[in-house]
Amino acid sequence: MAASGEVEVGMDAESSRAALRRARAETELLIASLTRDLNGVIDASLSSNADDEHDPEGATIAFERAQVAALLAGARRRLADLDDALSRLDAGTYGRCERCGLPIPAERLAVRPSARTCVHCAG
Ligand SMILES: [Zn+2]
Repeated sequence: MAASGEVEVGMDAESSRAALRRARAETELLIASLTRDLNGVIDASLSSNADDEHDPEGATIAFERAQVAALLAGARRRLADLDDALSRLDAGTYGRCERCGLPIPAERLAVRPSARTCVHCAG
């Protein structure tokens, strides 16, 4: 048991913050790009009588639109996760498993900066 009573986290706070900010910036770029894609698909559907559901092109556009929308939803979730992680960093609970309370290894945080649990507790 550590004399200070503090659990050592896998990564120091400043590197963690930098990694989270970097991941957040990348995710914001991804969201901007997917939003442009989605608008492009919607524009295409507006210009091609896609309201006729029997039009095969309309079905393709609907499919593309659903795919881009799913990617966009995933990216937004990731952004929210990263924001949560930044709040946990401010609160001093970042880098600790929410289930077992043990520090999350630095290698895991490097791959997944928004991780809330250790590998054993994940999934
Ligand atoms: Zn755990």
